Amino acid sequence: MCKVLKKYICRMTLQERDNEVIWHPFTHQKNRKPPLPIVKGEGTILFDEEGKQYIDAISSWWVTLHGHAHKYIAEKLYQQAITLEQVIFAGFTHEPAVSLAERLLTILPNNFSKIFYSDNGSTSTEVAIKMSLQYWWNNNEKATDSFKRKKILAFNDAYHGDTFGAMSVSDRSVFTLAFHDKLFEVFFIDTPDETNIEELKSIISKEGESIAAFIYEPLVQGAGGIRMYEAKWMDELLKTVKLFDIICIADEVMTGFGRTGNLFASQYLTERPDIICLSKGLTGGTMALGVTACTDRIYQAYLSEDKLKTFFHGHSFTANPLACTAALASLDLLLQAECLHKISWISEENRRFSDILSTLNNRILIKNIRVLGTIIAFEIDKGKDEYLNEVATGFTQKALDMGVYIRPLGNTVYIMPPYCITKEELTKVYDTILTILGN
Ligand SMILES: *Cc1c(COP(=O)(O)O)cnc(C)c1O
Repeated sequence: MCKVLKKYICRMTLQERDNEVIWHPFTHQKNRKPPLPIVKGEGTILFDEEGKQYIDAISSWWVTLHGHAHKYIAEKLYQQAITLEQVIFAGFTHEPAVSLAERLLTILPNNFSKIFYSDNGSTSTEVAIKMSLQYWWNNNEKATDSFKRKKILAFNDAYHGDTFGAMSVSDRSVFTLAFHDKLFEVFFIDTPDETNIEELKSIISKEGESIAAFIYEPLVQGAGGIRMYEAKWMDELLKTVKLFDIICIADEVMTGFGRTGNLFASQYLTERPDIICLSKGLTGGTMALGVTACTDRIYQAYLSEDKLKTFFHGHSFTANPLACTAALASLDLLLQAECLHKISWISEENRRFSDILSTLNNRILIKNIRVLGTIIAFEIDKGKDEYLNEVATGFTQKALDMGVYIRPLGNTVYIMPPYCITKEELTKVYDTILTILGN
């Protein structure tokens, strides 16, 4: 830091200091608007420096389940922090990691057998991709790279994270544009519906033998624009995929832990995944943690005398005891009848609001209203349907002025509130949307 800067720091506002030293995620830097300094969170409410309150209607990027600065989670974290804050996870273990794995295995939407920990959503999908590719490599007679199952199948408009593997299996979009020549080749198909299901099944039948794994966001594609598709067609597609022994990877980083009304979106499907990826709501939104769970079929491929068949992957903070403790505390809260009831209540309110939206006088302004559980989304029918659509910035500012935080993806407006949201707060969120839409 330069001396001049040091001298003036005490006179600068937090926004000015931020502007000097911080580069924010997913934020266009030139002429950037100063970020909003938040000093406190409580329940669904974020407080800024001036004490102005904002309802966090998108759960701070889809992570916060039980509200901000939750006392129960905080207390558990404090106790863990003064007991064991971190320990290497190769050759060592600890209670929070084991307890969390045991609890997850009882609630996950398949007969999973092992939990692999990492740091966030991107690492959880990165692990899943490596785990499934190496499954085929390990299952080869000789450990060579000449195995024939090399392709990964993924959906158009998918988003699985920002690291290179995760980017590769994500849609080629404005997010990945600068890196296209560095991303590995992936076999992309559309999400299934009644018009394309037969075509998709015949593509899989033709290519199936060469496909190692299929990665998908079950029923809701998040960052790709909160796009929803039906369980019925997905089950048909998955049936065909499974005929070819393709490893099915459900990326439930966003949909997990009640977001879609069920604990996991895969529960809407009869065809269940071999690998599931979790993060975001895993710790109730308190700390960064990723989980990749696999079935015994996958794990068995790594039980070999041959040391070359080891899964050589791990992160410094693998299974951080604090993060695991936060996840255990979040599960305590999530699985209480009261919270599950709140999830269905928000789902009902969302359906009621979607009816209101679809009967608006100026309905030409909006389109594609859709709901799944606590998630509701629609497009503002203005300009191109894309992430860089300018509608987003105006919408966010107007909502903030009214005390609600909503952050559209391009012209896609959505809400995904913490489960602790009150009736009064949810009504305020809906009213804010209606006001901005001009009703
Ligand atoms: C957010 C998200 C990711 C990436 O998670 P990060 O923790 O941001 O790395 C991956 N997959 C899905 C479906 C997501 O919504």
